[in-house]
Order: sequence, then C-alpha cells, then structure tokens
Amino acid sequence: MVLAVAAALDQRRLSLLVFVSTVFLISAPLSAASAPWTFWPPAPARGDEGCLSWRVMVEANNAKNWRTVPAPCIPYVYNYMSPVWGQYARDVASAVDQMLAYAGTDTAADNGLDAWVLDVDDTCLSNLPYYQANHFGAYDPAAFRAWASKGICPGIPAMVKLFWTLKGRGFKVFLLSGRAEETLAAPTASNLAAAGFAGYDRLILRGVGHRGESSVEFKSAMRRRLEEEEGYRIRGNVGDQWSDLQGHSTGDRVFKVPNPMYFVP
Ligand SMILES: [Mg+2]
Repeated sequence: MVLAVAAALDQRRLSLLVFVSTVFLISAPLSAASAPWTFWPPAPARGDEGCLSWRVMVEANNAKNWRTVPAPCIPYVYNYMSPVWGQYARDVASAVDQMLAYAGTDTAADNGLDAWVLDVDDTCLSNLPYYQANHFGAYDPAAFRAWASKGICPGIPAMVKLFWTLKGRGFKVFLLSGRAEETLAAPTASNLAAAGFAGYDRLILRGVGHRGESSVEFKSAMRRRLEEEEGYRIRGNVGDQWSDLQGHSTGDRVFKVPNPMYFVP
C-alpha cells in the first residue's frame, strides 16, 4: 500500500516535470521571438491580431508619438471605423453609456457652475471622411484646415445624445478645441450647429496667443481659466486624445473615446 502511494506520487512528480519542461521548451522560443516587440505589428503582418494589439496600445496610451496608421493596419482601421459595420460606433456608444451612468448619479449644482468639457474633433464631430480620403496618412495642416473650413463633419451620434443629456441635467457644456480661432471659428460653429450641438455654453478655440503650445498646455490653460478665474467645477472631461485629458484642471473624471486614426501630442 505504502509502495503504491509512493509510486503514484513519483508518477505525478514525473508528469509535473514533463509538463514544466514542455512549457519551458515551447515558451522559450516564443519569448525570444516576441522580445524585440516594437511599436509596429511584427512583420510579416499577421492579420488583424497584430492590428488589434496596436489599437489597444494606442487607446491605452502605451504607444505615443506615432505619425500614421501602420501600413499593414490601414485595412483594419477602415473596417473598424466603418459607419456601417465597424466596431467604432459601438465602442463610442459604450463609452457614452459610462458617461451617462456617471452623469446620472449627479445633477448640476444650483449655482450653475458645474460643467463638462468636450473636445470637438473626433469627439463631437467626425473627421473620418477626411482621414479615409487620405488613407490615414500623416497630418497635413493645410489640407486639414481646408477640410475643416467646409463645415461638413458629421456629428457622432452617441456624443449628440450625451450633449443633450448633460444640458437637460443642467450642466454647462464647454467645447474645447485646438482648431485655430482666427480661421476656423465660423465654420466650426456652423458645423456644430448642423451636427446637433446647439446651445453649448462656449466654444473655446486656440487664439493667436496660444500658437505653438502643445495641446496639453493649451487645453490645460483653458480649463484652468474656467475653474480658477470663472469658478466652474469640471465634472467630466471627454476627448479622443490623451492630450485632451492630461495636464491641469482635468476634471473630476475623464473619458477617452476611441481614435485609431491619428495621435495628437
Ligand atoms: Mg479630438
């Protein structure tokens, strides 16, 4: 009996040893192969798996300072962003569900100073037609200005819903954008109105005095002014870029909506 139990234990130890050795042998080459993981999906392109990893890195802010969608992932981003079958609209709607749940626990204070700050480009208004036409290439300031001047960006439906819910709950809503005030104020305002964002409390654009500042610097300064000089309390802050949500006076809570098309430092 004792010998039988000892033999059984030895068998289990042997099995465990074989299992661990097998795992080590299998995983060692994989670890070595994946060690030089860089920003771009490993070549040759492995299909959507690598691009999904890339998108998660982008959204989690692990990847920074990228200039274009990596070439192997352009078809993936087309599919992801598709207004017809893409996952993008569902992801934005899910993010907005979280915003509504948070806002639903709260109503604005009677003093009229509770506010939300929403970014404009690819938070309220979609630039998808422009970036699709340019195959998600590098940012071109002149071409983007020409596109934005047309004032034809579609509204992002879930964000229109958020906007009207916030207004209905008595929050001030400030729209904060790095667009140049002197050239894009009029088309941006008319575009917002046409896209369903009517009755916001202020559209804050980048004036000439803030040229050359990073998005974090400019938006921090504008939010700080709202809070420290005008007495507002920022309850929620929404953007498609991490630079919308970092710096000073970021608000009680920040929400990131997806954007795998470009990166703004
Ligand atoms: Mg934006």
